[in-house]
Formats: sequence, C-alpha cells, structure tokens
Amino acid sequence: MPKVFITRLIPDRGINLLKNKGYEVVISEKDGVLTKEELLNSLKGENYDAVLCLLTDKIDADVFAAAGPQCKIFANYAVGFDNIDLKTIQSRGVMITNTPDVLTETVAEHTFALMISMAHRIVEADKFMRAGKYAGWAPMLLLGDDIARKTLGVVGLGRIGSRVAYHAVKGFDMKVLYYDPKRNDQFEKDYGATYTPNLDDLLKQADFVSIHVPLLPATHHLINAEKLSLMKRTAYLINTSRGPIVDEAALAIALKQRIIKGAAIDVFENEPQMHPMLKDLDNIIVTPHIASATEETRQKMSELAAKNIIEALEGRTPPNLVKVV
Ligand code: NAD
Repeated sequence: MPKVFITRLIPDRGINLLKNKGYEVVISEKDGVLTKEELLNSLKGENYDAVLCLLTDKIDADVFAAAGPQCKIFANYAVGFDNIDLKTIQSRGVMITNTPDVLTETVAEHTFALMISMAHRIVEADKFMRAGKYAGWAPMLLLGDDIARKTLGVVGLGRIGSRVAYHAVKGFDMKVLYYDPKRNDQFEKDYGATYTPNLDDLLKQADFVSIHVPLLPATHHLINAEKLSLMKRTAYLINTSRGPIVDEAALAIALKQRIIKGAAIDVFENEPQMHPMLKDLDNIIVTPHIASATEETRQKMSELAAKNIIEALEGRTPPNLVKVV
C-alpha cells in the first residue's frame, strides 16, 4: 500500500481522498513548521511514496535524498513553488506539483480587501473607535481615497493578477495597466487593459500597484528603492505574491518618508518576521500570509494536492505537474 507523508495537518478533504484509496497517511504530529532536521528525520528510512509539503518546507537535495528513490512526488500545498529546489529535484526524476486555480478567486478577494481597507483607512478607523477617540461625526475625520476610476497597475497578469484586474474593471471602473513578459491580447480586448512593456511606466502612472508575479531570481527585489521612488507620492502598493519580490527595508523607508502614500502586504521577506520599522507605521496594513485562507479554498487545495498524488502513484501524469524550464 502506498505511503504518504504530510508535513503538517491540513484540511481533511485531501487526507480523506488518500485514505479512501487505502493509502497509509502519516501526518506530522508537530503543530508547526518542521525544521530541516525534523523533516529529514521524518523521511529517513520510512520509504514514503509521496510527500505532501507546504510552502514553509524547504525542499532541497538533502530532503530528496532522505525521502529515498521510491518517492515519486512532492505535492506542494500552494500555487507558488519557490520553496522547492526544482533543478535538483528534476535531475532526480521526482515529480513536483502545485495547486493553481483553486485559490485564484480567494487571493484576488484578499488583494481587494487590502486595497479597500488601506484606501478607506479601515484598520486605523477600527483602532480609533476601540481607543474611545470617536467624539462624533466630523467633516475632516480619517479622510481616505476612492478607488473607483483610479488607475491600477498589475505586475504579473497571470491567474491571480488577471482576476484582480477583472474586479478592478468590472467592480470599480478602474483603468488597468499591466506589466508581464507575456502580452495578453484577449484580456486587453475584453477588459480594456493596457499593456505596459516597461515596468517604470506602469509605476509612474498607477494609483495602486498590485504585485502578482512568482518569486524567481528575476523577480527578487523587483520593487526596490529606485522603483518605489518612481511611484506617485499618492500611490499605494499591494503585495500578495511573495515577500522577497519587494525590498522590505526600502518599502519601510518609502512609507516613513511618504515617498508613497501607503502599502498593504500579506507576505514578508523573512517570514514569519516583518521588518521592525513597519510595525510603527500607520500607512501600512499587514496580514500574516492568509490571502488564500478561506475554509473552502484550503479544502480545495487539500483535495487538489491529494489528486496530484493519486494520479502520480497510479502511473498517470498529475494535473498540476510543474514543468521546469
Ligand atoms: P501565474 O503563473 O498564473 O501568474 C504569474 C504571472 O507573472 C504570469 O503571467 C507570468 O508571465 C508573470 N511573470 C513572470 N515573471 C515576471 C516578471 N519578471 N515580471 C512580470 N511578470 C512576470 O501565477 P498565479 O497563480 O497568478 O500566482 C502568482 C503568485 O502569487 C504565485 O507565484 C505565488 O507566489 C503568489 N501567491 C500568494 C498567495 C498568498 O497566500 N499570499 C496565494 C497564492 C499565490
């Protein structure tokens, strides 16, 4: 009977799929991220046929070696797979899968939740109320910014970026600019989005800049001090992709010096830490990497990761096989 290791408890739908297949499913008992040593010890000598891993697990050559040659697949419980050393894994003939599409809507919703909360100063207002500072309606109290008809710059018009752009156009009559190595003529036609082949041009024009690229060597610190200085002083930055895409120290300085007006981020450069300067700034909203965290979506991710494992172990190509280029 195939044996599957899950590195941390996840919602049950996928676990049940694996169990209903008769697989032996072992779930890490630690309520936390396994250290590298713990992960290696969990795998060594256990002869697992598959590993369901999380974005917090660093999957490298040592982990692969510990899992052993019979292990056919590492199914990542995330759409991003920057936690996996793809080159090493591929040279060893192991399959890597991710969980695209099922989380797109949820992450796009979270992006808008951040954008609206920031522009309408929701978090500041909530703190203000709880501190007992509300002394009655006032014409100048906590003035924010409208979103409607402003310009949104989408950096990375993939699955999530295009869903965010869709909401922007359909829900808020926003003008959408996008920057991506791949041009999407159909999206331009359908939603009136404007392709901006130069990132700097997008940054100079957008009122809101939303980041949706994968973390790659080419996107590490894609948004740095120089890029932030190109943005309008009235503009906001939203990052729900991966922390290291934005130079967090540079962002903290840009926010403190009001080089940009505000930011809202769900991901951080050195998770779970955030840059200490950000803690004291009132022009940033932070959430703890929860953009895909709804009950429904986390169940769908669980199910999809399990389906990828089942397909691989039954000798078929899993639906979400990551191709190494
Ligand atoms: P996707 O692959 O569909 O889209 C990524 C887009 O970025 C593609 O269109 C690609 O062409 C573009 N791109 C690649 N390199 C680029 C570059 N240098 N400059 C500009 N664009 C570039 O991926 P997706 O499903 O939309 O997910 C995007 C990312 O969001 C994931 O890689 C993941 O890191 C992140 N994510 C975060 C959360 C969260 O919880 N915060 C949840 C899901 C996804």
